[in-house]
Amino acid sequence: AFEGLADRLQNTFQKIKGKGKVTEADVKEMTREVRLALLEADVNFKVVKDFIKRIKERAVGQEVMQSLTPGQQVIKVVKEELTDLMGGEQSKIAVANRPPTVIMMVGLQGAGKTTTTGKLANHLRKQHNRNPLLVAADVYRPAAINQLETLGNQLDMPVFSKGTEANPVDIANEAIQQAKDNHNDYVIIDTAGRLHVDEHLMDELQQIRQNVQPNETFLVVDAMTGQDAVNVAETFNEQLDVTGVVLTKLDGDTRGGAALSIKAVTDKPIKFAGMGEKLDQLEPFYPDRMAQRILGMGDMLSLIEKAQNEVDEDQAKQLEQKMKDASFTLDDFLEQMGQVRNMGPLDELIGMIPGADKMKGLKNAQVDEKQLNHIEAIIQSMTKKEREDPSIMNASRKKRIAKGSGRTVAEVNRLLKQFSDMKKMMKQMTNQKGKKGKGGGGF
Ligand code: GDP
Ligand code: MG
Repeated sequence: AFEGLADRLQNTFQKIKGKGKVTEADVKEMTREVRLALLEADVNFKVVKDFIKRIKERAVGQEVMQSLTPGQQVIKVVKEELTDLMGGEQSKIAVANRPPTVIMMVGLQGAGKTTTTGKLANHLRKQHNRNPLLVAADVYRPAAINQLETLGNQLDMPVFSKGTEANPVDIANEAIQQAKDNHNDYVIIDTAGRLHVDEHLMDELQQIRQNVQPNETFLVVDAMTGQDAVNVAETFNEQLDVTGVVLTKLDGDTRGGAALSIKAVTDKPIKFAGMGEKLDQLEPFYPDRMAQRILGMGDMLSLIEKAQNEVDEDQAKQLEQKMKDASFTLDDFLEQMGQVRNMGPLDELIGMIPGADKMKGLKNAQVDEKQLNHIEAIIQSMTKKEREDPSIMNASRKKRIAKGSGRTVAEVNRLLKQFSDMKKMMKQMTNQKGKKGKGGGGF
């Protein structure tokens, strides 16, 4: 799924990614392209409109993150909004205070209710150690009952059925009683569907719902049906007050519009995604991961997040002040280095940048890592006083430091020279830039 959308968005962001300055014209062009990409992916036009409005507001009135380039910040905004659009947090399945927890599956015929009933049971057992009972409440087609029984056999799980003559409400009630007797902690009710929304079906589903009071009512929708899926979801939600959505067939070549519109239109979370016909092809739906997949930033987004987590903004401000008044010490330098390193091994970090492997010079990352180790060792061998004021450094101190760190005096000298050059440069930079610079992040 999402290939077309992903391609378009990725092209758009390729242009903006490295920008050190993002102008209003850039934002305008970017939002125009994002808008077209979403519409082409069959996202509901109202949803697109709101989405673009929010992106524009945030991208223009950009909150300044010291550690990111403006281009990266814009991508970050889009990723956050895309995540929000799909529901923000991953949402959990309810658990009844007194078992069994009852889940009712509803949706049009062919959406994937029966298959998902089996998949969900499998998921509950595998991931949550639960012991579900499957219930065949689609009484209109003998084949539907057989289908669920076959799934039950494959999973080696009990299936409750009463043939095609029984009333779905009775079936559900009896099944719940049986689950209590047999200590099944989940009951998953597979219901009938129609090709289109119709009143008779809704009546029946409402009756089941009122009788059994399910803890969850999952609407199963076929992602391949695009805008139709969104309309169906709206109707089912109005009539049955669903608690969550399962999007099936996301493995197909759907354009993704449904996934991106359903939460916004129904305000109900997408809880699972069907990724194939097999029983283990159901995944909890993670809005952030999906956004990441769509934006296809490789691991660049996690790199951005890492940078955000590791660099404390206040600290960055303090640092900038220190640079300005030239009180930046070797200790600060050490701390800065530690922060960069907290993010992970340097070569691994660089590996996260898409295309980095093709850039020349980055092959030396390994070497730089070694050099960082040396620098750290040298600074750590200095006394507190020496770190604060390297001007007191004389030959015997340098010799002691070299010995302590296992490096040579020449290396100690080189570091001190580099540090002093760096300080001079910082002073120049911060004086020139005044307040507006993006210095201080450390990388
Ligand atoms: P129901 O009428 O709503 O019960 O739908 P079914 O469970 O019978 O599924 C209809 C068809 O969709 C079957 O052929 C399933 O194998 C297929 N199906 C269901 N979920 C998925 C999915 O996530 N991916 C794919 N590729 N096919 C699915
Ligand atoms: Mg079915």
